Amino acid sequence: MISKPFKEKDVKEKEAIIQYLGHSGWAIKTQNHILIFDCVGYNERSLGEVINLTEVNRKKVSVFVSHDHPDHYSPAIFDWRKSIREINYIVGWKLETGGYCLCLGPREKKSLNGLEIWTIKSTDEGVGFLVKVDGLVVFHGGDHAYWGGSIDSFSREIDYLAKVEDKIDIVFLALATGTGQRSESITRGIFYAIEKLRPKVMFPMHAGGREYLYKEFAQEAEKKSLKTKVCYCLNKGDKFIYQNGEIKKLN
Ligand SMILES: [Zn+2]
Repeated sequence: MISKPFKEKDVKEKEAIIQYLGHSGWAIKTQNHILIFDCVGYNERSLGEVINLTEVNRKKVSVFVSHDHPDHYSPAIFDWRKSIREINYIVGWKLETGGYCLCLGPREKKSLNGLEIWTIKSTDEGVGFLVKVDGLVVFHGGDHAYWGGSIDSFSREIDYLAKVEDKIDIVFLALATGTGQRSESITRGIFYAIEKLRPKVMFPMHAGGREYLYKEFAQEAEKKSLKTKVCYCLNKGDKFIYQNGEIKKLN
C-alpha cells in the first residue's frame, strides 16, 4: 500500500509530524516547512510517499543531505524540483549543481528561508545539521557517531551543540554501522549525546532493514529512566506527532 504522509490535521507552531523514510531518512512537517533528511530511494514518481503533494505549495520544502555516501544521498532528490515549486537543498559537502544547492562545511551557521542551520563535523563524512524551525529545534546527526577509538571527536561536536542550543526537541542519531552492527561505543556515544543535549525525544537511525535494533535500544533506554523519550520505528512510513513536548505514534 502506498502510504499517504501528512494527510493528518495541520500542525501548529512548536509541533511536528515526523515520518521515517528508512535507514537515516526522515520527513518532518512543521507549521510552515517540510524538512527532509538523508532520503534515499524516492524519485519524482514516488515523491508522493514522502510529501503530500497537495500541500507543497503551502509549505517550504528543504532537503538536507549530510554526506554523499549512497545510504544517505541519491541524486534522484534533484528531480523533485519538477514537482515542487519552492524547494531548497542543503548538503554537507561541496557539490556542483549550478547554484541551487547550499553547500555547508562543518561548524557553519546559515539562515535560509526561515530556517536557522548549524552544522557539526561528523566523525564519518560530511556534517550533522541542527535546525531551528517554527519554534522547534531538531538535530539530525548524519553519520556522526562514536564509532570507536577516542570519544573526543564525537563528544567535542556534541558539547558544541549543547552550547549552541540548550532546548532541543528532537534528535536523530546513528545506532549501527552501515552493515548493521551495533557496537558498545556507538551506544555509549548516544547516551552521551542524550545526557548532554537533553532532547525531549530521540530516534535511533542508520539501521535500515534491521529496525528491530531501534526497538532493542529503546527498551534499554527505558530502563535508564531518562528524561528523553526514546522512540523507535519498525517500518518505513511510521509516523509520529510531536506536540507540547510529547510524542505519539500516529499509524
Ligand atoms: Zn551511513
